[in-house]
Amino acid sequence: MAKWKNSAVKQMRKRQLAKEHGYKCFYCKTKFAYSVLIIEHIVPFSRGGTNDMNNTILACDSCNSSKHNQLIEEWFERNDFRVASLYREYRYRKTISNTLRKMIDSGKSAT
Ligand SMILES: [Zn+2]
Repeated sequence: MAKWKNSAVKQMRKRQLAKEHGYKCFYCKTKFAYSVLIIEHIVPFSRGGTNDMNNTILACDSCNSSKHNQLIEEWFERNDFRVASLYREYRYRKTISNTLRKMIDSGKSAT
């Protein structure tokens, strides 16, 4: 589980992400009510991820549960459509690994 300094910090981040990306799941692009969206760690906390801006996005419960504690590279195989958008955001592009970049560049992913 992600450790935030306190809930105010966590809520501030959630508002910040919603302001930037809208009230939708970053992975599946479905719109949701603000209260339903979850702060998702691209690199899971259990795998060494942090609360940095470049490692956090908003996701729906379905995508969040599907990804669980997998790295993007592990989740990518069956979910390339959900991962492609990460690559288009410079901030997140820095977070995903070279391996994944090569997978995306090789044309496995739909644009
Ligand atoms: Zn989703």
